[in-house]
Amino acid sequence: MSTPAERRKLLKAVYEQARNCVRCPLHQTRTTVVFGSGNADAELMFIGEAPGANEDRMGLPFVGQAGKLLDKLLEEIGMERGDVFIANVLKCRPPDNRDPHPNEIDACQPYLRRQIELIEPAVICTLGNFSTKLLRGESVGISRLHGREELREIGSRAVRLYPLYHPAAALYTPSTLEALRRDFHRIPELLALGAPEQPPALEPVPELEERAPELEEPVPELEEPAPELEEPAPEWEEPSAASGPEPTLAGEPERAAQLGLF
Ligand code: URA
Repeated sequence: MSTPAERRKLLKAVYEQARNCVRCPLHQTRTTVVFGSGNADAELMFIGEAPGANEDRMGLPFVGQAGKLLDKLLEEIGMERGDVFIANVLKCRPPDNRDPHPNEIDACQPYLRRQIELIEPAVICTLGNFSTKLLRGESVGISRLHGREELREIGSRAVRLYPLYHPAAALYTPSTLEALRRDFHRIPELLALGAPEQPPALEPVPELEERAPELEEPVPELEEPAPELEEPAPEWEEPSAASGPEPTLAGEPERAAQLGLF
């Protein structure tokens, strides 16, 4: 259990690792690493699939049409983005919005698991098949699981896992939208239950608290720095004064704005 300040510091350290990530070939085609955004102390986390073109450009998750639907559904239950944390299975966009490949999911999952461990949400809504299958560790699909909450241990945390249809799937299929909305409207009821009882804590290992060691494994084929990483990627330039108000953390406005952390 971290204090809010420690949690933000640790999350930002993971973000620093992610933004330079070359663990899978998607680093060659991405514009921006979309780490995730929202409230670091959120009780509710949403986990989508992967950034699309808009997200890749802006560096924030769910900023396209699917994101607008997510915002609308949040509003319907009296919540907003600042109340939740939104992340994806993949932090980088697959070219042409193709499905994530197993090697990409494998390479990226330590980031997601560390995010969950640090944010300590009570409820995790997986959006669609990819995040549902990853966090449940089973291949049962979303059409059988949506709207059925279950207690799951994810890393060292017990959470209420609540699979939902992906908002993108609901955009063009009215019956899917209806099911998504019905399931979504039960989120407050699940949040009201609070966090499930936690498994006994393991002895803390101090040197593991600041970093996720699995993220530091060498990636053999990338021992030579990838040329595009030698120059700082433009998306990490200091935001200009004209870039408008962004959520910030006192003392660290640039990084916090890029992380979209509340
Ligand atoms: N779809 C996702 O799964 N994630 C995003 O961030 C955007 C669209």
